[in-house]
Formats: sequence, structure tokens, C-alpha cells
Amino acid sequence: MSGVAYHEAGHAVVNLRFCLKLGPVTIIPDHNKNQEGSCTTERERGDGSIDSKVAIVFLAGYEAHLKYDPAADFGSLAYDGVEAIRLSHGRIEELRSTAAQMVENNWRQIEAVAMALIEDGTLKGEECEIIVGSIDEGKDWRVVLEWYRESIRHLE
Ligand SMILES: [Zn+2]
Repeated sequence: MSGVAYHEAGHAVVNLRFCLKLGPVTIIPDHNKNQEGSCTTERERGDGSIDSKVAIVFLAGYEAHLKYDPAADFGSLAYDGVEAIRLSHGRIEELRSTAAQMVENNWRQIEAVAMALIEDGTLKGEECEIIVGSIDEGKDWRVVLEWYRESIRHLE
């Protein structure tokens, strides 16, 4: 289960680094869709403008999972891989090394999002953004996230 958390956190953090829209991220399995988790990332726009970024986001799940556990079973990655290849327009190797580099550079942020997913099961896109921003600013993400959730509750 923690491998899935790192996988989804990899997608989420790299998606945010590209300033693409991020929806809910979950490690609660959906047996109907045969998914161990999911990350609602922005998809390609049909004009090719963000194809490489979307492909890198797809690859980042695998790269994060691999860094966390090099011996993991990556059997469920078929969909990510097919989509990444389709959007890579023949540059899959180059995009994969970019994805690996981004995972490396954002490892503390990915770890924190994975930790929050393990604790809460599901995070909203904005909550992932709060976690990543907290770490970027050297703050305690748990404190900032709690404060954010508290302030949202007051607004509702
Ligand atoms: Zn994935």
C-alpha cells in the first residue's frame, strides 16, 4: 500500500510542478476499475501543447514507486506506460529521464504527500498543493495542512 502512495504522490507533485490542475488523489482501491489508487491530473488539450508534461506526469508515478521500492511489482503500470508512450511522440527515453530527475528533486515533497495519503486515504488537489508549498517554504506541512482544513471548515 505505501508503494501505491508514493506512486500517486509522484504523479501529484510533478503535476503541480508543471502548474497543471490537480483533482483528488487517493490510495483507496477501486475494484470496479481495477485501480489500486488514482490521481486526477490534467489531461492533454488536444493541441499537443502540454503532451510532454502530461507524459512526464504519467512517468513520475513509476519513477517515484521505483525510487521508494526498486524491487516492487510494477504490474499495474500498463495504463500509465501506454499513455506516456502515446504522448511522448517518440521521446520516451528523454521524458523518462526528466521524470526521474523531477522525482529526485522533489523527493521530500513526494514523501510528505505519500505520508498524508497513508494517513488520510484521499487528498484534495488543494491539500497536495498546501503540503508541497509548506515544504518549499521550510514549514511543517502537518501544521499548515491542519490550519488550512480548519479554515475551510469555518468557511463552509
Ligand atoms: Zn499511475
